[in-house]
Amino acid sequence: LLSVDELAVSFGKRKQWREVLHKVSFELRENEILGIVGESGSGKSVTSLSIMGLLPKNTSQYSGRILFEEEDLLKLPKEDFRKIRGKEIAMIFQEPMSALNPSLKCGKQVSEILRLHFKMSSSKAKKETIALFEKVKLPRPNEIYNSYPHQISGGQMQRVMIAMAIACKPKLLIADEPTTALDVTVQKEIISLLKTIQKETKMSMLFISHDLNLVSEIADRVMVMYQGSVVENASTVEIFTNPQAEYTKALLEARP
Ligand code: ATP
Ligand code: MG
Repeated sequence: LLSVDELAVSFGKRKQWREVLHKVSFELRENEILGIVGESGSGKSVTSLSIMGLLPKNTSQYSGRILFEEEDLLKLPKEDFRKIRGKEIAMIFQEPMSALNPSLKCGKQVSEILRLHFKMSSSKAKKETIALFEKVKLPRPNEIYNSYPHQISGGQMQRVMIAMAIACKPKLLIADEPTTALDVTVQKEIISLLKTIQKETKMSMLFISHDLNLVSEIADRVMVMYQGSVVENASTVEIFTNPQAEYTKALLEARP
């Protein structure tokens, strides 16, 4: 589904460029969850922003290819990218308010997307939104439909954001540290929710976290990044039973 091929990304301007991703390559198959782990600054978010086409235009440079269903996203005209982003590739973030609009009721945020992408009537979009809220296990979906984001809890906001991300049935969901801001119990609930949704929809997923334990709970494969490079990419079992890279071994030992 997704094939990243020698992706290099630099930030800066004029002749002052600093390369932060060094020829990163990996593949993501259909119906697969790939975990990306690495310490802060290792390039996890830059990787996901590149796939989403959200790198800052004026202060970044890149080379390589990002093939999504045979199409090179790095070469895609802006208008075509808009059709893919949100619809075929969706993303959820650590901070739900970076995706939610504070002045729009939770229900509207999701139903507007459905109306826009599927030309649904407002009553159909509302019904569908309530169904999505039930799917992400929001309590009292009707009440949340009419609440503003600040009127619900952080975990509930996270669920609204997930409902929004899966509303268009994307083929790829990128989750960049989606649970870091939550307490451990809620973290576990969200992970199991994402797992359930993935099984049901068979969408592919990139699950990004600095926490190897968390990644191992959800991912089929794990890619380990260090200072902008991939140091290891193997099945989750292999990573845990037979790690190859020194850095992976250190990560395993540092686990609580
Ligand atoms: P974290 O776990 O803290 O989220 P990360 O692995 O996601 O870390 P990135 O955000 O991908 O790390 O950052 C990789 C490197 O790229 C860092 O050195 C960061 O300073 C740099 N960087 C990221 N975004 C920009 C930007 N817009 N402009 C300049 N440098 C950037
Ligand atoms: Mg990050």
